[in-house]
Amino acid sequence: MNSLRFEALNSLAKNNRPSTFQEYSSENHYAQNVFNDMALQKSLNKEAYDEISKVIFKGSKISKSLADQIAAAMKSWARSKGTTHYTHWFQPLTGATAEKHESFFDLSSDYLAIERFDGSQLVQQDPDASSFPSGGIRNTFEARGYTAWDPTSPAFIYGKTLCIPTIFVSYTGDALDYKTPLLRSLSELDKAATDIAKYFDKNTQKVYATLGWEQEYFLVDRSLAASRPDLNLTGRSLMGHESSKGQQLNDHYFGSIPRRVLAFMQELEHQSLLLGIPLKTRHNEVAPGQFELAPIFEEANLSVDHNALLLDVINKIAEKHNFMVLLHEKPFKGINGSGKHNNWSLKTNTGINLLSPGKTPMNNLQFLTFFINTIAAVLNHESLLRASIVSASNELRLGTDEAPLPIISVFIGEQLTEVLNNLEQVSEGKLSPKEKTDLKLNVIGKIPEILLDNTDQNRTSPFAFTGNKFEFRAVGSKTNCAKPITVLNSIVAEQLIIFKGKVDGRLENPKMKKDDAIFNELRDSIKHIRTILFEGDGYSEAWIKSAKKRGLSPMTSTPEAIKAYVSPKSITLFKTLKVFTERELESRVQVDLQQYTHTLQIEGRTLGDIARNHIIPTAIQYQNTLIDNVKGLKEIYGKGFEVHAKEQMLLIERISGHISQINSGVNAMISERKNANLLEDDYLKATTYYVQVKPYFDTIRYHCDKLELLVDNSIWPLAKYRELLFSR
Ligand code: ADP
Ligand code: MG
Repeated sequence: MNSLRFEALNSLAKNNRPSTFQEYSSENHYAQNVFNDMALQKSLNKEAYDEISKVIFKGSKISKSLADQIAAAMKSWARSKGTTHYTHWFQPLTGATAEKHESFFDLSSDYLAIERFDGSQLVQQDPDASSFPSGGIRNTFEARGYTAWDPTSPAFIYGKTLCIPTIFVSYTGDALDYKTPLLRSLSELDKAATDIAKYFDKNTQKVYATLGWEQEYFLVDRSLAASRPDLNLTGRSLMGHESSKGQQLNDHYFGSIPRRVLAFMQELEHQSLLLGIPLKTRHNEVAPGQFELAPIFEEANLSVDHNALLLDVINKIAEKHNFMVLLHEKPFKGINGSGKHNNWSLKTNTGINLLSPGKTPMNNLQFLTFFINTIAAVLNHESLLRASIVSASNELRLGTDEAPLPIISVFIGEQLTEVLNNLEQVSEGKLSPKEKTDLKLNVIGKIPEILLDNTDQNRTSPFAFTGNKFEFRAVGSKTNCAKPITVLNSIVAEQLIIFKGKVDGRLENPKMKKDDAIFNELRDSIKHIRTILFEGDGYSEAWIKSAKKRGLSPMTSTPEAIKAYVSPKSITLFKTLKVFTERELESRVQVDLQQYTHTLQIEGRTLGDIARNHIIPTAIQYQNTLIDNVKGLKEIYGKGFEVHAKEQMLLIERISGHISQINSGVNAMISERKNANLLEDDYLKATTYYVQVKPYFDTIRYHCDKLELLVDNSIWPLAKYRELLFSR
């Protein structure tokens, strides 16, 4: 047998695990390839450094002469490290990162070789890039896309290329990427949150969103994966019988990290640290072959860039170690899929985490203000928040039992629930001295205890408060964090603006004190936010029923969920905050719907091909062996042969049954695809794929998986689950 599967198994058996591996010392290498604040300070004169610091802090415009100075400093820094090219690095709506390298080399007017990189190359580029998804924006107007420097995320050297983080917009200024709306949302959130934070500390000048993501992924042996067109083309297995051993024993979770994986992780961490990605945590996850890594949290825009960059680095390092990294949300049926928890909080320029309970009642009032308003924002926009994380691949994870259900609810834990219960009891109006004391001692005074006990994490909750931050757990492993974080920033900004309006309204009464006004407003919100608070088992049937009764909207399909971006409520939100125009929103919905359709189309085609080109021929080959066997038995035994051939004949029949089911399934799926492809409307097409095409994936798979159990192992062409998950 010399199929790819057996070649790979043989080579694994010969043991290609490293006997030794390189040890890296992390601390000394951190951010060496980043042109960060320190590098800026070193290479600019004081005036220029102060000016760029101001631009970064205030988000103001940069002058041409300052851009020239920074470009010169950046170039000489990059050239001193052996860099030959530079690129504007951006995040188009494909979900991947994009780069078009330009050499520093140029020709002067008299054809002499020179180096060229000044402010204009730093600030703007015109990479055309007309083939990226734009959701129709560029069909109607100008085809070209432009990139523009984001000075808030430092340039870095990747390979031999200086990468300059940029936004990507059309000629008309419409956003064509994930970063543009993210930056807009961060600035709106900053304004709204700073206004509120000033109630508590007048010195607050700026509020940053912070993000710490936890990236889950699978590693499979690259040579074994080569036998699987589904893994190569779709990133997930479209068939494959469950392995007898899966995650039942929970023996992989937090287990000792396999040697070959550890070597990979060490190199990944080393490369990431050089790039300034502050990776800190690594461990085995629940499913066999599944792992997780997490960095120290950072300002959200930088953290988003770092996650996008990591998804590229991880692929390259995995390849080097002959691994294939699977970032898909559900690469294998029957075991856990992969998510990317987005830990989100708010931090002031004075260093205060606004979602961290404090030690004094006033600190706690500040904490409660941001805590309660975040929950109110999630309640107000639960379906929009969900729209930011749905996709064809996350649908497979959300639909099953290891991940939060497709109903957005908020988990806050027992202690905070009690705190809210107590607060709600306090009477309206100006608080009496007694109530204030109560508040100090009995109610708000309890909050610091939360810090001691925030371990009661309900893993079934899609959005949970975990001590000093919210954790959005429904985010898929492949998703660009900018998508959910843009929505989260926007809805919280809107809510804080509403809250401020109400508090200021109360303060029009000259007798009203600020903390009373805030407190009363918060107390009024508690009743309201109960709708979205849920502490129970998010997987239970009862919850789905009661969620509906509460007016929450369980998701029915991904295409349906995507449409929440263009609900009147969402349009108003984004237009008011100037995070998305209506046209940008429509374009994003179109891109997401088309991506959904294309994903299912590719999966359908791949499944049909494997079923017909790999599975059916293999099944027939084995069936022929059985037929030969039966014929031989007949020759030997004559009339009485059936006693000896009974089981074989049964097998022959069963194989025929599965083959015919596969074949008719593939035919029916193709015809449904053809019908769906005729539809013009993106929503209708995506929905038709969901309703009419997708169900065939399961039926075709079912029969292929049955055949896997019947057919001779030695001729089965695809690496099996047990091999993919346990061979390392
Ligand atoms: P767990 O698996 O229990 O959620 P981890 O340690 O794996 O915990 O991940 C926690 C993540 O939360 C890390 O990425 C960490 O940096 C991040 N985090 C901690 N504090 C904050 C904060 N204030 N804002 C944003 N992210 C945070
Ligand atoms: Mg977590």
